[in-house]
Amino acid sequence: MDELKEHCGVAGVYLSGGGDGASKLVYYALQSLQHRGQESAGIAVSDGERIEHYKNMGLVSEVFDRGRLAELKGHIAIGHTLYSTSGRAAIENAQPFVSRSKLGTVAVAHNGSLVNTEPMREFLEETGSSFTSTSDSEVIIKLIAKNYKKGLERAITDTIQLIKGSFALCVMTEQKLIGVRDPNGIRPLCLGKVQNGWMLASESCAIDAVGGDFVRDIDPGEIVIINEDGVLSFKFGEKTSKKLCVFEYVYFARPDSIVDNIGVLEARMKMGEVLARESPAAADVVIGVPDSGLGSAMGYSRASGIPYAMGIVKNKYIGRTFIAPTQEAREQMVFVKLNALKSDVCGKRVIIIDDSIVRGTTSRRLIRLLRKAGAKEVHFRISSPPVKFPCYLGIDTPERAGLISANHDVEEIRKEIGADSLAFISLEGMLEALRSSLRFPEDSGAEDAGGEDFAARRKIRLEACGFCQGCFTGEYPMPMIGEIGKRDS
Ligand code: 5GP
Ligand code: MG
Repeated sequence: MDELKEHCGVAGVYLSGGGDGASKLVYYALQSLQHRGQESAGIAVSDGERIEHYKNMGLVSEVFDRGRLAELKGHIAIGHTLYSTSGRAAIENAQPFVSRSKLGTVAVAHNGSLVNTEPMREFLEETGSSFTSTSDSEVIIKLIAKNYKKGLERAITDTIQLIKGSFALCVMTEQKLIGVRDPNGIRPLCLGKVQNGWMLASESCAIDAVGGDFVRDIDPGEIVIINEDGVLSFKFGEKTSKKLCVFEYVYFARPDSIVDNIGVLEARMKMGEVLARESPAAADVVIGVPDSGLGSAMGYSRASGIPYAMGIVKNKYIGRTFIAPTQEAREQMVFVKLNALKSDVCGKRVIIIDDSIVRGTTSRRLIRLLRKAGAKEVHFRISSPPVKFPCYLGIDTPERAGLISANHDVEEIRKEIGADSLAFISLEGMLEALRSSLRFPEDSGAEDAGGEDFAARRKIRLEACGFCQGCFTGEYPMPMIGEIGKRDS
Protein backbone atom coordinates (compact mmCIF):
# COMPACT_ATOMS: atom_id res chain seq x y z
CA MET A 1 0.00 0.00 0.00
CA ASP A 2 1.48 3.29 -0.90
CA GLU A 3 -1.44 5.41 0.13
CA LEU A 4 -1.46 7.48 3.24
CA LYS A 5 -1.55 5.44 6.41
CA GLU A 6 -2.64 7.31 9.46
CA HIS A 7 -2.80 7.02 13.15
CA CYS A 8 -4.06 10.14 14.76
CA GLY A 9 -5.22 11.80 17.90
CA VAL A 10 -8.31 13.99 18.03
CA ALA A 11 -9.74 16.26 20.70
CA GLY A 12 -12.52 18.81 21.09
CA VAL A 13 -13.64 21.24 23.79
CA TYR A 14 -16.91 23.12 24.37
CA LEU A 15 -16.97 25.77 27.10
CA SER A 16 -20.44 26.85 28.22
CA GLY A 17 -21.19 30.52 28.53
CA GLY A 18 -18.48 31.68 26.12
CA GLY A 19 -14.90 32.51 26.97
CA ASP A 20 -11.65 32.27 25.10
CA GLY A 21 -9.95 29.25 26.59
CA ALA A 22 -11.02 26.31 24.40
CA SER A 23 -7.91 26.21 22.20
CA LYS A 24 -5.63 26.10 25.23
CA LEU A 25 -7.40 23.04 26.61
CA VAL A 26 -7.26 21.38 23.20
CA TYR A 27 -3.55 22.20 23.05
CA TYR A 28 -2.92 20.34 26.32
CA ALA A 29 -5.12 17.48 25.15
CA LEU A 30 -3.13 17.20 21.92
CA GLN A 31 0.12 17.17 23.87
CA SER A 32 -1.10 14.13 25.79
CA LEU A 33 -2.17 12.52 22.51
CA GLN A 34 1.19 13.23 20.90
CA HIS A 35 2.06 9.50 20.91
CA ARG A 36 -0.80 9.00 18.43
CA GLY A 37 0.83 11.16 15.78
CA GLN A 38 3.88 13.36 15.44
CA GLU A 39 3.77 14.44 11.84
CA SER A 40 1.54 17.50 12.02
CA ALA A 41 -0.76 19.28 14.45
CA GLY A 42 -3.66 21.69 14.12
CA ILE A 43 -6.40 23.46 16.04
CA ALA A 44 -9.61 25.11 14.83
CA VAL A 45 -11.52 27.43 17.14
CA SER A 46 -14.88 29.21 17.11
CA ASP A 47 -15.96 32.28 19.03
CA GLY A 48 -19.58 31.57 18.17
CA GLU A 49 -19.48 33.48 14.92
CA ARG A 50 -16.26 32.72 13.11
CA ILE A 51 -13.99 29.71 12.84
CA GLU A 52 -10.23 30.29 12.71
CA HIS A 53 -7.61 27.62 12.44
CA TYR A 54 -3.91 26.97 12.31
CA LYS A 55 -2.01 23.80 11.39
CA ASN A 56 1.53 22.92 10.46
CA MET A 57 4.06 20.10 10.28
CA GLY A 58 5.73 19.06 13.52
CA LEU A 59 5.03 18.24 17.15
CA VAL A 60 2.26 20.07 19.00
CA SER A 61 4.85 22.11 20.92
CA GLU A 62 6.61 23.06 17.68
CA VAL A 63 3.46 24.06 15.82
CA PHE A 64 1.97 26.20 18.59
CA ASP A 65 3.77 28.78 20.65
CA ARG A 66 2.12 31.07 23.17
CA GLY A 67 1.46 33.79 20.60
CA ARG A 68 -0.09 31.47 18.06
CA LEU A 69 -2.34 29.95 20.68
CA ALA A 70 -3.42 33.36 22.00
CA GLU A 71 -4.66 34.24 18.52
CA LEU A 72 -7.02 31.26 18.54
CA LYS A 73 -9.77 32.76 20.68
CA GLY A 74 -13.11 31.16 21.32
CA HIS A 75 -15.15 28.76 23.42
CA ILE A 76 -15.27 25.83 20.99
CA ALA A 77 -12.21 24.13 19.57
CA ILE A 78 -11.10 20.90 17.93
CA GLY A 79 -7.59 19.63 17.33
CA HIS A 80 -5.66 16.89 15.59
CA THR A 81 -2.25 15.25 15.61
CA LEU A 82 -1.32 13.30 12.50
CA TYR A 83 1.06 10.45 11.97
CA SER A 84 1.69 9.30 8.46
CA THR A 85 4.57 7.29 7.19
CA SER A 86 4.23 7.48 3.44
CA GLY A 87 6.57 9.93 1.79
CA ARG A 88 3.53 12.00 1.00
CA ALA A 89 3.18 13.40 4.46
CA ALA A 90 2.59 17.02 3.64
CA ILE A 91 1.00 20.13 5.00
CA GLU A 92 -2.02 19.61 2.69
CA ASN A 93 -2.91 16.53 4.72
CA ALA A 94 -2.66 18.24 8.10
CA GLN A 95 -5.94 18.57 9.99
CA PRO A 96 -8.45 19.88 11.03
CA PHE A 97 -9.95 20.38 7.59
CA VAL A 98 -12.09 23.52 7.39
CA SER A 99 -14.80 24.12 4.82
CA ARG A 100 -16.47 27.51 4.39
CA SER A 101 -19.70 28.17 2.51
CA LYS A 102 -22.61 30.61 2.51
CA LEU A 103 -24.39 28.33 4.95
CA GLY A 104 -21.57 28.35 7.46
CA THR A 105 -18.24 26.84 8.31
CA VAL A 106 -17.48 23.26 9.34
CA ALA A 107 -14.20 21.88 10.71
CA VAL A 108 -13.38 18.18 10.97
CA ALA A 109 -10.65 16.19 12.75
CA HIS A 110 -10.58 12.49 11.85
CA ASN A 111 -8.80 9.49 13.35
CA GLY A 112 -9.07 6.34 11.27
CA SER A 113 -9.01 5.24 7.67
CA LEU A 114 -11.82 4.98 5.18
CA VAL A 115 -11.89 1.94 2.94
CA ASN A 116 -14.17 3.44 0.28
CA THR A 117 -12.27 6.67 -0.31
CA GLU A 118 -11.92 6.14 -4.06
CA PRO A 119 -15.60 5.72 -5.00
CA MET A 120 -16.55 8.56 -2.63
CA ARG A 121 -13.95 10.84 -4.14
CA GLU A 122 -15.07 10.04 -7.66
CA PHE A 123 -18.69 10.68 -6.71
CA LEU A 124 -17.76 14.03 -5.14
CA GLU A 125 -15.56 15.08 -8.05
CA GLU A 126 -18.32 14.23 -10.52
CA THR A 127 -20.66 16.49 -8.58
CA GLY A 128 -18.35 19.45 -8.48
CA SER A 129 -16.13 19.06 -5.39
CA SER A 130 -12.39 19.47 -5.75
CA PHE A 131 -9.71 18.15 -3.43
CA THR A 132 -6.57 19.78 -2.08
CA SER A 133 -5.09 16.76 -0.29
CA THR A 134 -4.56 13.01 -0.63
CA SER A 135 -6.27 12.44 2.71
CA ASP A 136 -9.35 10.25 3.04
CA SER A 137 -10.50 12.65 5.74
CA GLU A 138 -11.09 15.39 3.16
CA VAL A 139 -13.83 13.16 1.72
CA ILE A 140 -15.64 13.40 5.06
CA ILE A 141 -15.64 17.17 5.23
CA LYS A 142 -16.62 17.47 1.57
CA LEU A 143 -19.60 15.17 2.13
CA ILE A 144 -20.70 17.11 5.22
CA ALA A 145 -20.35 20.40 3.35
CA LYS A 146 -22.33 19.04 0.41
CA ASN A 147 -25.21 17.99 2.65
CA TYR A 148 -25.08 21.03 4.93
CA LYS A 149 -28.20 22.59 3.45
CA LYS A 150 -30.24 19.79 5.03
CA GLY A 151 -29.08 20.91 8.46
CA LEU A 152 -26.08 19.83 10.46
CA GLU A 153 -27.54 16.67 12.00
CA ARG A 154 -28.80 15.36 8.67
CA ALA A 155 -25.56 16.33 6.95
CA ILE A 156 -23.57 14.33 9.44
CA THR A 157 -25.85 11.30 9.54
CA ASP A 158 -26.06 11.19 5.73
CA THR A 159 -22.28 11.41 5.49
CA ILE A 160 -21.76 8.66 8.00
CA GLN A 161 -24.07 6.30 6.10
CA LEU A 162 -21.90 6.76 3.01
CA ILE A 163 -18.42 6.32 4.42
CA LYS A 164 -17.02 2.90 5.31
CA GLY A 165 -14.02 2.13 7.45
CA SER A 166 -12.85 3.45 10.78
CA PHE A 167 -13.61 6.94 12.01
CA ALA A 168 -13.54 8.74 15.30
CA LEU A 169 -14.48 12.34 14.49
CA CYS A 170 -14.49 15.69 16.19
CA VAL A 171 -16.61 18.07 14.10
CA MET A 172 -17.22 21.72 14.82
CA THR A 173 -19.51 24.43 13.49
CA GLU A 174 -19.64 28.01 14.71
CA GLN A 175 -22.00 26.94 17.50
CA LYS A 176 -21.58 23.24 18.13
CA LEU A 177 -19.08 20.51 18.90
CA ILE A 178 -19.91 17.05 17.59
CA GLY A 179 -18.31 13.68 18.29
CA VAL A 180 -18.85 10.60 16.12
CA ARG A 181 -17.64 7.02 16.41
CA ASP A 182 -18.01 4.52 13.56
CA PRO A 183 -20.52 1.62 13.90
CA ASN A 184 -17.74 -0.76 14.93
CA GLY A 185 -16.02 1.70 17.25
CA ILE A 186 -12.70 0.72 15.68
CA ARG A 187 -10.96 3.88 16.88
CA PRO A 188 -11.52 5.11 20.43
CA LEU A 189 -13.29 8.32 21.48
CA CYS A 190 -14.37 9.40 24.93
CA LEU A 191 -16.23 12.18 26.69
CA GLY A 192 -15.05 14.14 29.70
CA LYS A 193 -16.33 16.98 31.88
CA VAL A 194 -14.08 19.97 32.25
CA GLN A 195 -14.75 23.08 34.28
CA ASN A 196 -17.63 24.92 32.53
CA GLY A 197 -17.78 22.46 29.73
CA TRP A 198 -17.04 19.24 27.93
CA MET A 199 -14.15 17.51 26.23
CA LEU A 200 -13.95 14.84 23.56
CA ALA A 201 -10.67 12.97 23.14
CA SER A 202 -9.18 9.88 21.54
CA GLU A 203 -7.96 8.71 24.95
CA SER A 204 -8.84 9.41 28.56
CA CYS A 205 -5.25 10.51 29.35
CA ALA A 206 -6.09 13.79 27.55
CA ILE A 207 -9.00 14.45 29.90
CA ASP A 208 -6.73 13.74 32.89
CA ALA A 209 -4.16 16.17 31.50
CA VAL A 210 -6.52 19.13 31.81
CA GLY A 211 -7.82 18.10 35.23
CA GLY A 212 -11.16 16.99 33.79
CA ASP A 213 -13.36 14.07 34.80
CA PHE A 214 -13.81 11.11 32.53
CA VAL A 215 -17.52 10.62 31.80
CA ARG A 216 -17.76 7.71 29.35
CA ASP A 217 -16.68 6.26 26.03
CA ILE A 218 -18.70 7.24 22.99
CA ASP A 219 -20.55 4.13 21.82
CA PRO A 220 -19.98 2.57 18.42
CA GLY A 221 -22.42 4.24 16.02
CA GLU A 222 -23.13 7.13 18.38
CA ILE A 223 -23.18 10.86 17.64
CA VAL A 224 -22.97 13.38 20.47
CA ILE A 225 -23.84 17.00 19.86
CA ILE A 226 -22.59 19.46 22.44
CA ASN A 227 -23.92 23.02 22.77
CA GLU A 228 -25.28 25.36 25.44
CA ASP A 229 -27.97 22.80 26.28
CA GLY A 230 -25.41 20.13 27.17
CA VAL A 231 -24.71 16.79 25.53
CA LEU A 232 -27.31 15.33 23.20
CA SER A 233 -26.73 11.77 22.04
CA PHE A 234 -28.20 9.72 19.24
CA LYS A 235 -27.45 6.58 17.29
CA PHE A 236 -26.99 6.74 13.55
CA GLY A 237 -26.94 3.08 12.71
CA GLU A 238 -29.03 0.24 14.07
CA LYS A 239 -26.43 -2.36 13.35
CA THR A 240 -23.48 -1.75 15.58
CA SER A 241 -21.06 -4.31 16.88
CA LYS A 242 -18.02 -3.32 18.79
CA LYS A 243 -14.72 -4.11 17.09
CA LEU A 244 -12.21 -1.87 18.77
CA CYS A 245 -8.74 -2.17 17.25
CA VAL A 246 -6.90 -4.61 19.46
CA PHE A 247 -3.60 -2.92 18.59
CA GLU A 248 -4.72 0.06 20.70
CA TYR A 249 -4.04 -2.15 23.72
CA VAL A 250 -1.00 -3.88 22.27
CA TYR A 251 0.97 -0.85 21.20
CA PHE A 252 -0.84 2.32 20.36
CA ALA A 253 -2.64 3.77 23.39
CA ARG A 254 -0.92 5.30 26.39
CA PRO A 255 -0.63 3.00 29.42
CA ASP A 256 -2.57 5.38 31.67
CA SER A 257 -5.58 5.54 29.33
CA ILE A 258 -8.72 3.54 29.92
CA VAL A 259 -10.25 2.60 26.59
CA ASP A 260 -13.73 1.08 26.48
CA ASN A 261 -13.47 0.10 30.16
CA ILE A 262 -10.11 -1.61 29.82
CA GLY A 263 -7.08 -0.01 31.45
CA VAL A 264 -4.27 -0.15 28.90
CA LEU A 265 -1.46 -0.94 31.34
CA GLU A 266 -3.59 -3.47 33.15
CA ALA A 267 -4.31 -5.23 29.86
CA ARG A 268 -0.62 -5.30 28.96
CA MET A 269 0.26 -6.75 32.36
CA LYS A 270 -2.39 -9.45 31.94
CA MET A 271 -0.99 -10.27 28.49
CA GLY A 272 2.40 -10.73 30.14
CA GLU A 273 0.90 -13.04 32.75
CA VAL A 274 -0.77 -15.17 30.08
CA LEU A 275 2.47 -15.24 28.10
CA ALA A 276 4.38 -16.47 31.16
CA ARG A 277 1.88 -19.28 31.55
CA GLU A 278 1.83 -20.21 27.86
CA SER A 279 5.55 -19.87 27.13
CA PRO A 280 7.72 -20.15 30.23
CA ALA A 281 11.52 -20.04 30.08
CA ALA A 282 14.22 -20.72 32.66
CA ALA A 283 15.90 -17.35 33.20
CA ASP A 284 17.41 -14.97 35.74
CA VAL A 285 15.77 -11.72 34.73
CA VAL A 286 12.76 -10.34 32.77
CA ILE A 287 13.07 -7.06 30.88
CA GLY A 288 10.72 -5.16 28.56
CA VAL A 289 11.27 -3.10 25.42
CA PRO A 290 10.34 0.50 26.22
CA ASP A 291 7.70 1.74 26.22
CA SER A 292 4.92 -0.52 25.08
CA GLY A 293 6.68 -3.76 26.13
CA LEU A 294 7.11 -2.73 29.76
CA GLY A 295 3.62 -3.60 31.02
CA SER A 296 3.75 -7.14 29.71
CA ALA A 297 7.29 -7.60 31.07
CA MET A 298 6.00 -6.64 34.52
CA GLY A 299 3.14 -9.10 34.16
CA TYR A 300 5.47 -11.86 32.97
CA SER A 301 7.75 -11.27 35.92
CA ARG A 302 4.85 -11.27 38.36
CA ALA A 303 3.43 -14.53 37.02
CA SER A 304 6.76 -16.36 36.66
CA GLY A 305 8.42 -15.08 39.82
CA ILE A 306 11.52 -14.16 37.78
CA PRO A 307 12.80 -10.72 38.87
CA TYR A 308 12.00 -7.71 36.70
CA ALA A 309 14.80 -5.34 35.73
CA MET A 310 15.11 -2.25 33.60
CA GLY A 311 17.61 -3.86 31.22
CA ILE A 312 17.16 -1.35 28.42
CA VAL A 313 17.31 2.42 28.44
CA LYS A 314 15.41 4.46 25.89
CA ASN A 315 16.45 7.84 24.57
CA LYS A 316 13.44 9.97 25.51
CA TYR A 317 14.09 12.60 22.92
CA ILE A 318 13.54 10.40 19.90
CA GLY A 319 10.15 8.98 20.80
CA ARG A 320 8.19 7.73 17.86
CA THR A 321 9.02 10.81 15.86
CA PHE A 322 11.73 9.45 13.68
CA ILE A 323 10.35 7.38 10.88
CA ALA A 324 13.41 6.22 9.04
CA PRO A 325 12.84 5.93 5.31
CA THR A 326 15.20 3.04 4.60
CA GLN A 327 15.76 -0.33 6.24
CA GLU A 328 19.39 0.52 6.97
CA ALA A 329 18.48 3.80 8.62
CA ARG A 330 15.77 2.05 10.63
CA GLU A 331 18.28 -0.48 11.92
CA GLN A 332 20.75 2.22 12.89
CA MET A 333 17.99 4.09 14.71
CA VAL A 334 17.38 1.16 17.03
CA PHE A 335 20.86 1.72 18.51
CA VAL A 336 20.37 5.44 18.87
CA LYS A 337 17.02 4.88 20.51
CA LEU A 338 17.74 1.90 22.78
CA ASN A 339 20.75 0.71 24.77
CA ALA A 340 21.30 -2.27 27.08
CA LEU A 341 22.12 -1.91 30.79
CA LYS A 342 25.14 -4.15 31.35
CA SER A 343 24.60 -4.35 35.08
CA ASP A 344 21.14 -5.88 34.57
CA VAL A 345 21.94 -8.44 31.89
CA CYS A 346 25.65 -9.35 31.99
CA GLY A 347 26.17 -13.05 32.65
CA LYS A 348 22.42 -13.63 32.90
CA ARG A 349 19.75 -15.62 31.11
CA VAL A 350 17.42 -12.86 29.92
CA ILE A 351 13.74 -12.95 28.97
CA ILE A 352 12.95 -9.90 26.88
CA ILE A 353 9.36 -8.93 26.07
CA ASP A 354 8.16 -6.70 23.27
CA ASP A 355 4.60 -5.88 22.34
CA SER A 356 4.90 -6.88 18.69
CA ILE A 357 7.14 -8.00 15.89
CA VAL A 358 6.29 -6.26 12.64
CA ARG A 359 9.28 -6.29 10.32
CA GLY A 360 11.62 -7.96 12.81
CA THR A 361 14.20 -5.20 12.70
CA THR A 362 13.89 -4.09 16.32
CA SER A 363 14.14 -7.55 17.82
CA ARG A 364 17.21 -8.54 15.79
CA ARG A 365 19.03 -5.40 16.86
CA LEU A 366 17.97 -5.73 20.49
CA ILE A 367 19.29 -9.26 20.73
CA ARG A 368 22.61 -8.08 19.37
CA LEU A 369 22.68 -5.32 21.96
CA LEU A 370 21.94 -7.73 24.80
CA ARG A 371 24.58 -10.21 23.71
CA LYS A 372 27.14 -7.46 23.39
CA ALA A 373 26.26 -6.41 26.94
CA GLY A 374 27.05 -9.95 28.12
CA ALA A 375 23.67 -11.69 28.23
CA LYS A 376 24.21 -15.46 28.39
CA GLU A 377 20.89 -16.42 26.83
CA VAL A 378 18.15 -14.32 25.23
CA HIS A 379 14.57 -15.58 25.25
CA PHE A 380 12.25 -13.35 23.23
CA ARG A 381 8.56 -13.23 24.12
CA ILE A 382 5.94 -11.22 22.24
CA SER A 383 2.71 -10.08 23.88
CA SER A 384 0.70 -10.11 20.65
CA PRO A 385 0.24 -12.89 18.09
CA PRO A 386 2.19 -12.80 14.82
CA VAL A 387 1.18 -9.81 12.65
CA LYS A 388 0.43 -11.50 9.32
CA PHE A 389 -1.91 -9.09 7.56
CA PRO A 390 -1.83 -5.40 6.74
CA CYS A 391 -4.15 -2.95 8.46
CA TYR A 392 -6.51 -0.89 6.34
CA LEU A 393 -8.15 0.78 9.29
CA GLY A 394 -5.60 3.14 10.70
CA ILE A 395 -2.55 1.31 12.01
CA ASP A 396 0.59 1.69 9.98
CA THR A 397 1.63 -1.84 9.14
CA PRO A 398 3.57 -2.45 5.97
CA GLU A 399 2.25 -4.56 3.11
CA ARG A 400 2.49 -8.31 3.54
CA ALA A 401 5.92 -8.61 1.97
CA GLY A 402 7.31 -6.49 4.81
CA LEU A 403 5.65 -8.46 7.61
CA ILE A 404 8.10 -11.06 8.81
CA SER A 405 5.34 -13.29 10.23
CA ALA A 406 3.47 -13.32 6.93
CA ASN A 407 6.29 -15.20 5.30
CA HIS A 408 8.09 -17.06 8.09
CA ASP A 409 7.12 -19.42 10.88
CA VAL A 410 8.23 -18.90 14.48
CA GLU A 411 11.34 -21.08 14.19
CA GLU A 412 12.49 -19.24 11.07
CA ILE A 413 11.97 -15.91 12.80
CA ARG A 414 13.85 -17.13 15.88
CA LYS A 415 16.85 -17.94 13.68
CA GLU A 416 16.51 -14.70 11.76
CA ILE A 417 16.55 -12.53 14.88
CA GLY A 418 19.12 -14.71 16.66
CA ALA A 419 17.17 -15.57 19.84
CA ASP A 420 17.73 -18.68 21.97
CA SER A 421 13.98 -19.10 22.06
CA LEU A 422 11.00 -17.17 20.69
CA ALA A 423 7.29 -17.34 21.48
CA PHE A 424 4.22 -15.24 20.71
CA ILE A 425 1.12 -15.07 22.87
CA SER A 426 -1.79 -17.02 21.36
CA LEU A 427 -4.75 -15.09 19.95
CA GLU A 428 -7.00 -16.73 22.54
CA GLY A 429 -4.53 -15.84 25.29
CA MET A 430 -4.47 -12.20 24.24
CA LEU A 431 -8.27 -12.02 24.14
CA GLU A 432 -8.48 -13.72 27.54
CA ALA A 433 -6.10 -11.08 28.94
CA LEU A 434 -8.25 -8.29 27.53
CA ARG A 435 -11.55 -9.71 28.71
CA SER A 436 -10.22 -10.28 32.19
CA SER A 437 -9.12 -6.61 32.30
CA LEU A 438 -12.61 -5.37 31.46
CA ARG A 439 -14.00 -3.14 34.19
CA PHE A 440 -17.66 -2.89 35.00
CA PRO A 441 -18.02 0.62 36.38
CA GLU A 442 -21.82 0.37 36.65
CA ASP A 443 -21.37 -2.61 38.93
CA SER A 444 -19.01 -1.15 41.48
CA GLY A 445 -20.23 -2.53 44.76
CA ALA A 446 -22.57 -5.00 43.07
CA GLU A 447 -19.71 -7.37 42.50
CA ASP A 448 -19.52 -8.23 46.18
CA ALA A 449 -23.23 -8.84 46.25
CA GLY A 450 -22.78 -11.22 43.32
CA GLY A 451 -26.01 -12.98 42.36
CA GLU A 452 -27.56 -14.01 39.08
CA ASP A 453 -28.23 -10.50 37.89
CA PHE A 454 -24.63 -9.54 38.18
CA ALA A 455 -23.45 -12.68 36.42
CA ALA A 456 -25.98 -12.15 33.62
CA ARG A 457 -24.98 -8.52 33.10
CA ARG A 458 -21.36 -9.47 33.11
CA LYS A 459 -21.99 -12.09 30.45
CA ILE A 460 -23.78 -9.57 28.22
CA ARG A 461 -20.96 -7.07 28.53
CA LEU A 462 -18.29 -9.66 27.84
CA GLU A 463 -20.13 -10.75 24.73
CA ALA A 464 -20.34 -7.14 23.58
CA CYS A 465 -16.60 -6.74 24.04
CA GLY A 466 -15.34 -7.47 20.52
CA PHE A 467 -12.16 -6.49 18.77
CA CYS A 468 -10.85 -5.99 15.27
CA GLN A 469 -8.04 -8.52 14.96
CA GLY A 470 -7.50 -8.08 11.24
CA CYS A 471 -3.71 -7.77 11.49
CA PHE A 472 -3.54 -11.18 13.15
CA THR A 473 -6.31 -13.06 11.32
CA GLY A 474 -6.92 -11.24 8.03
CA GLU A 475 -10.58 -10.93 8.99
CA TYR A 476 -11.76 -7.36 9.06
CA PRO A 477 -15.05 -5.92 10.39
CA MET A 478 -16.13 -4.92 6.88
CA PRO A 479 -15.23 -5.85 3.31
CA MET A 480 -12.08 -4.03 2.23
CA ILE A 481 -13.41 -2.36 -0.90
CA GLY A 482 -10.68 -2.05 -3.50
CA GLU A 483 -8.12 -3.59 -1.18
CA ILE A 484 -9.09 -7.24 -1.11
CA GLY A 485 -7.12 -8.04 -4.24
CA LYS A 486 -4.02 -6.50 -2.74
CA ARG A 487 -4.19 -8.47 0.44
CA ASP A 488 -2.02 -11.31 -0.70
CA SER A 489 0.26 -9.32 -2.89
P1 5GP B 1 9.75 -4.17 13.89
O1 5GP B 1 11.15 -3.80 13.99
O2 5GP B 1 9.48 -5.62 14.15
O3 5GP B 1 9.15 -3.70 12.60
O4 5GP B 1 8.95 -3.32 14.96
C1 5GP B 1 8.50 -3.81 16.18
C2 5GP B 1 8.55 -2.69 17.16
O5 5GP B 1 7.86 -1.58 16.64
C3 5GP B 1 7.91 -2.99 18.49
O6 5GP B 1 8.80 -2.55 19.48
C4 5GP B 1 6.64 -2.17 18.54
O7 5GP B 1 6.48 -1.57 19.82
C5 5GP B 1 6.86 -1.10 17.53
N1 5GP B 1 5.68 -0.80 16.73
C6 5GP B 1 4.58 -1.54 16.51
N2 5GP B 1 3.72 -0.91 15.70
C7 5GP B 1 4.28 0.28 15.39
C8 5GP B 1 3.86 1.39 14.59
O8 5GP B 1 2.78 1.39 14.03
N3 5GP B 1 4.73 2.45 14.52
C9 5GP B 1 5.93 2.46 15.16
N4 5GP B 1 6.71 3.51 15.04
N5 5GP B 1 6.35 1.42 15.93
C10 5GP B 1 5.54 0.34 16.03
MG1 MG C 1 8.19 -0.91 20.90
